[in-house]
Amino acid sequence: MDQQAYASYIAQHYHRTSEGVITDFMTRHNGHLYFGDRINLSDLVRRYGTPLEVAYNPLITERIRSMQNWARQARSAAQYTGSFIYAYATKANFAADVIQTALAAGAHYETSAAADVRIAQHLWRQGILPGDRLICCNGSKEPAYIEAICDLRIDDYTNIVPIVDDLEELDALMECPAPFQLGVRERAAGNRDGFHPGNDRFGLTMAEIDAVVERLQSTRHRLTVYHAMIGSQVEDREHFLTTLRESIVAYCRLRQRAPELRYFNFGGGMPTSGYRLDFQFDYAHFLTELMSEVRAICADFSVPMPDLIGEFGRYTVATHSLYLFEVGKVKAGQPGEPDWHLINGSLMVSLPDSLLVEDQEFVVLPLDNWDAPVRPVRLAGRRTCDSDDVYPRFRQQPLMLPAGGPGQVIAICGIGAYQQMISGRGGAHHCLSPEPHRVVITDVEGRLVTRSIPQQDQASIMRLLGYQPHHLPYPLPLAHPKSPSEPARISSVQRPMSLVAGGSVPRRRNRDRLRLVRSK
Ligand SMILES: *Cc1c(COP(=O)(O)O)cnc(C)c1O
Repeated sequence: MDQQAYASYIAQHYHRTSEGVITDFMTRHNGHLYFGDRINLSDLVRRYGTPLEVAYNPLITERIRSMQNWARQARSAAQYTGSFIYAYATKANFAADVIQTALAAGAHYETSAAADVRIAQHLWRQGILPGDRLICCNGSKEPAYIEAICDLRIDDYTNIVPIVDDLEELDALMECPAPFQLGVRERAAGNRDGFHPGNDRFGLTMAEIDAVVERLQSTRHRLTVYHAMIGSQVEDREHFLTTLRESIVAYCRLRQRAPELRYFNFGGGMPTSGYRLDFQFDYAHFLTELMSEVRAICADFSVPMPDLIGEFGRYTVATHSLYLFEVGKVKAGQPGEPDWHLINGSLMVSLPDSLLVEDQEFVVLPLDNWDAPVRPVRLAGRRTCDSDDVYPRFRQQPLMLPAGGPGQVIAICGIGAYQQMISGRGGAHHCLSPEPHRVVITDVEGRLVTRSIPQQDQASIMRLLGYQPHHLPYPLPLAHPKSPSEPARISSVQRPMSLVAGGSVPRRRNRDRLRLVRSK
């Protein structure tokens, strides 16, 4: 085996130097990884130990603002007169601080379920969700979902837009005493490209959409949204546009018959940088081309340019959180196979998409040892005894990491979307793998505030399973700080603290650095 250092491997394969920008959410300075160019991950490990989940909410704000800026540039480049509406698809991550951060950055709202609408109603009553935001309600709607939508509408939330997924839903919605803005979802868009099987279960055929227009004619309800989502994770700009083109034409044809139609909603699917180090997608270019295309097709049909809605799930939240795990044991692989790096967590619990989504990847970066020789490895979760608790999967290439033994800490990035929702938060997990210590960093009026939530304890896991533990606490494999001088237990739950990341790096310099990176 050659002795190429990890840093030189990264330089060769990903054209990243070991100092400076690694991804749009990770930088490296003086040999330390900085999350969001602000949070020194080694400092966090020294303070809290591993395993650790780190959520850095300012990255959500930054993602949303970036997209809004690109849309502004695109509108001007494409001379697009319709507006651009950024909605957060909440099913990617329902955590209260996540949704609040997205709303504070100006995001509109997309719901997937009855409980989701109830959360929106709660946030609206609290004044956190302003009434001028659109709420697009997608998915097939059981009675409880329709009831929740109707309740919020009766509460006088006029910008809630149920997107009709079948004609029976329409019957139920029309029983609501208040008039609705409604949407229709185009069934043909789902899996038009053949890459998104399962997505064509949503929406209406053209004949059904015509039936909706017909039905609404003599009512107080208005059809305002045309929804066409082609699928998830569309990483090829040209392909994204080509697949959408037929839907834009369908919008224009419908607009000629339904004059109150004013929004074209292209749904989710916007890709994220959280999954691969070689990720590239020119968002501004995509939006410019989309707007030019919509503008041209609308001109052909002599209809006004619609307001564009995008529903951003993964893109909004995937990169804002990561896991830090520590290699506790290295087991030699079979001859010719990579070594097993056994970590203090569970990969199948933490990254369920690695099992569910074919070839799903996550960006994995070592905190230290970038000068050590690079080696192919596979990670395995030490906190289950399941042969599937492996990443990367066997059909995928192994990970390249520095040769290093126990003590190597790795960051598994891009886990902020879907992973916790699919695994469930606060549950009893596979082999009772406890949920790691969680650190949530939020910007509160320009100051970073850290909340620290201890690792799930044995008693709460037992209670979930119906035990009534009396003599507690039993010890679990606790997170342990890397520095022996600091105590292992964090005493109070949700204790607000000032910024932990500063430590050795003064804040001022961080700011300068932020500017430095951004100004490139
Ligand atoms: C899930 C979903 C989204 C979000 O998709 P991402 O690919 O995560 O951006 C948007 N719209 C609808 C209708 C969805 O079902």
